[in-house]
Amino acid sequence: MRAHGMMNPAEGMAWREGDRAQQRATRDALSELVERNAEHLADAFYAALLDDQEARSFLSHEIVQTRLKTSLAAWLRDLFSDAAPADREAYGQKQRKIGAIHARSKIPFRLVLMGAAVLRTRLVDLIRTSPGTFEERFTRLATAVEQIEQSLALMSDSQAAATETRARQDEAYRLFSLDQDVNLERESQRASLMQWAQATLFQLLDDVDVPALQPLAGSPFGFWIRHRAGIMFEHAPELQSITEAMERIDGRILPRIAGGDPAVRTGLFKELKTAVDEIAFLLGEMFQRLVAMENGRDPLTRVLNRRFLSSILSREIGYANTHDTTLSLLILDIDHFKRLNDTYGHQAGDQILRQVAEVLMDSVRPSDFLFRYGGEEFLIVLVEVDCAGAAAIAERIRATIDAREFKAGESKPHITVSAGVAQHAGHPDPEFLIERADDALYHAKDAGRNRVHSAA
Ligand code: GH3
Ligand code: MG
Ligand code: MG
Repeated sequence: MRAHGMMNPAEGMAWREGDRAQQRATRDALSELVERNAEHLADAFYAALLDDQEARSFLSHEIVQTRLKTSLAAWLRDLFSDAAPADREAYGQKQRKIGAIHARSKIPFRLVLMGAAVLRTRLVDLIRTSPGTFEERFTRLATAVEQIEQSLALMSDSQAAATETRARQDEAYRLFSLDQDVNLERESQRASLMQWAQATLFQLLDDVDVPALQPLAGSPFGFWIRHRAGIMFEHAPELQSITEAMERIDGRILPRIAGGDPAVRTGLFKELKTAVDEIAFLLGEMFQRLVAMENGRDPLTRVLNRRFLSSILSREIGYANTHDTTLSLLILDIDHFKRLNDTYGHQAGDQILRQVAEVLMDSVRPSDFLFRYGGEEFLIVLVEVDCAGAAAIAERIRATIDAREFKAGESKPHITVSAGVAQHAGHPDPEFLIERADDALYHAKDAGRNRVHSAA
């Protein structure tokens, strides 16, 4: 910033006039340079991005290349044209619109940054060798880099916002899909797989040519796997295995069965049956896990399972930071639970877990969040409670459990718990808070169990 206050008004005016003239000269030079080299820059951009495997999947289509090259060149001309700063509003909207397109096309922001880096490097080269004094070229360089940074910032804002909206919509749709009858879906997909297997086997026994066979991927089951299952079972490891088994059947087993000699065919029939059985098994596993996850509840204790812990905790931490409130975590672990399992059996252990969960549910407010955090560990997010308050709640729970009569089959084992509490101290990362509560729990165990320890 120039210290305008040091000059008299006339001098200041002259400065600004000079500034403006210089800015205009810089813009003119840049505009002319980019005008002449826009196609060359667009070519360099695509050449560099086509070297990147992930980028290739977005760019390799002919239509994308011709259309995007044209629009990239136009974007560059626009970015450096004299008109750009004049209508900031329209200019900003354009950059945001590009960000939204990137979000819709699911282009990772990493690639946008990579493309921008290529353009920057090329522009720097062009400017370095452009005519003018060192200072003139330096000013051009600074202006060009700033221009690209500004437009990147606008694009990234809108890309992030659009991506977030999209993720929320995807999640809403996923939950909506889950709401459909899961058991019915499981049975009908199982039946659909078996139907394909039977039809295929009969056809093979009839010596039908391979081209006449319907590949599994093209059957109703295959369609369901490829289009619907991805939404219902996002990130499920079984889905990947099912896809691989499907590819094995269509790509390797079926082509070799038809027309093969009888001895080889018998072996391949077995291979086909094994692969179909494997898919049926994986399908069952995948549905079973989904049912367990239903509504984010732990099937044994009916409290929340840890799947949503991270998002709920992040949200609460964000709330505390923006509203100047606090929250505390309480992690609770049943003492010597392994011994209890060993003495009374696993069933009894499960029974105890349910009863402990009941005590916890009765001890927290409806606004708190109670999670089954591990095997015999529970985590409670106590909203708008400080460390002393959390310690008091933990102590009340500890005393209740210590005094309560638990049932395990015919036996009435004495149960105790240890707890660690920690108050949110401003750090935005939920893991940081969890670690502190975990440390406190460790101290409570170390000090002899059946007690509460607060993090410093
Ligand atoms: P400590 O006092 O140090 O906590 O000892 P501990 O025996 O409770 O601790 P540890 O973590 O060694 O053992 C926990 C046991 O909880 C081991 C595991 O078999 C049992 N467990 C985990 N999940 C379940 C469950 O769902 N049901 C039953 N019955 N037992 C479980
Ligand atoms: Mg434990
Ligand atoms: Mg334990």
